[in-house]
Amino acid sequence: MSCITVQDRAVAINPTRSCAPIGTMLANYGVHGAITINHGSQGCATYPRHQMSRHFREPVEVATTSLTEKTTVYGGKSNLLAALKNVWERFHPTMIVVCSTCLSETIGDDVPGIIDEFVERHPEVTVPILSVKTPSYIGNHTTGFDNFLKEIAANLPDRRKKKGETNGKINMIPGWVNPGDIRELKHMLREMGLHGLWLTDYSETLDGGYYEPRPPFPRGGTTIEELRSSSKSLATIALQRYVGGEAARIYERRYNVPAHVLTMPIGLVNTDAFIDTLVEITDHTIPEALQVERARLLDALVDTHMYTTGLRVALYGDPDLLEGLVGLVAEMGMTPAYILTAADTAPWAERMLELTGELGVESEIILKGDLHELHKRIKAHPVDLLIGHSKGKFIADAENIPLVRVGFPVEDRFGYHRRAIVGYNGSIALVDEITNQVFERRASAIVSNTLLERGVEGPSQVPIPLRNGKVVV
Ligand code: SF4
Repeated sequence: MSCITVQDRAVAINPTRSCAPIGTMLANYGVHGAITINHGSQGCATYPRHQMSRHFREPVEVATTSLTEKTTVYGGKSNLLAALKNVWERFHPTMIVVCSTCLSETIGDDVPGIIDEFVERHPEVTVPILSVKTPSYIGNHTTGFDNFLKEIAANLPDRRKKKGETNGKINMIPGWVNPGDIRELKHMLREMGLHGLWLTDYSETLDGGYYEPRPPFPRGGTTIEELRSSSKSLATIALQRYVGGEAARIYERRYNVPAHVLTMPIGLVNTDAFIDTLVEITDHTIPEALQVERARLLDALVDTHMYTTGLRVALYGDPDLLEGLVGLVAEMGMTPAYILTAADTAPWAERMLELTGELGVESEIILKGDLHELHKRIKAHPVDLLIGHSKGKFIADAENIPLVRVGFPVEDRFGYHRRAIVGYNGSIALVDEITNQVFERRASAIVSNTLLERGVEGPSQVPIPLRNGKVVV
């Protein structure tokens, strides 16, 4: 039977989480022409920019109020007022989002009050200015994303909705995913003959092309007009419970837009649930193209199960990603031996307990965990595979375990932000990668119908052809 443990060490060693403002910055990148002001020290803007650039391989821009020792003591109001004015005058963005930081929250700056004062002093500024609370000592990067979505849902949609008025779209909240995932989800909706209104869409803004002259804002992103009309959508689908689930419920409560909060669609069952929800909302039938993709995923699971069944896997990262991955891992016949997150979400842990019970696998679910904690467990009871972001590389190298990179950040590989792991196609790609990683380190591998027992004979025992035509063993 699975169990839940909570790491009680106060200090994190090799944490598996990032700072909260990153979440707001990322989500706001999905709104066309919007700019984030990071209200804190310069480092609070530089660290998120650096981490996002290394993952998305794009320049990431964010304004900062650049708080110093003086403003830390006397408050950052004057800096924030100046930053709002500068950003408006220099860029004329479509929206300004001010995210707080550990520093500005600790000194107690009243960001909404300062924004009100700015709007009063500058009636010429007509774009929305939102404030998002993102102290990193409450939550992590996913909290920043989720808080942003809640602010959008509460403040931007048009409340003047006539009875029965609709824009014919579905509010889609993918949650913390990659640009490639958003493109895959768009493909699925297109195949279903549906139109999504994306909250938000950074599929192009953070994975765009090279254009000359460089546009003032990255191409793509959801427009403010679309966000305003999101109160008139047919329904809202949140594909992550902890990033966007609450925003979906705000749409239901305030604008009467039905909410569907699902598990991240990784693997067969989770993707089926997503497609079934689209059918339930719209009565559209499932097109043949998606049925073929589904059959191909099923085939991939059948083809690979003899290599993956029974393997022990350690998974770490964000709660929603882990929930989706556990589904796929179980479908591949593997045991998610350790499921570790830095988050402190007891309801999620309870849910995972239930899920692993339903799937018939035995796991240790670790809350508030770091990678040092995971490493200790793996040393005591080894696993065959690691699945998570790049920070697990140190465990993978030390223990010689393959690491399948998913989540954020993936900074030691190129182009992973372009790949999809959601939907039938994304899951197929992930099944392939997991199986190939298993092949790579396996003691025996089948090559051209010859069984090479690498683990028994050792690499030096493999015949090596020499230039003179002789062969050494
Ligand atoms: S001080 Fe807080 S907000 Fe600033 S970079 Fe560090 S964790 Fe992020």
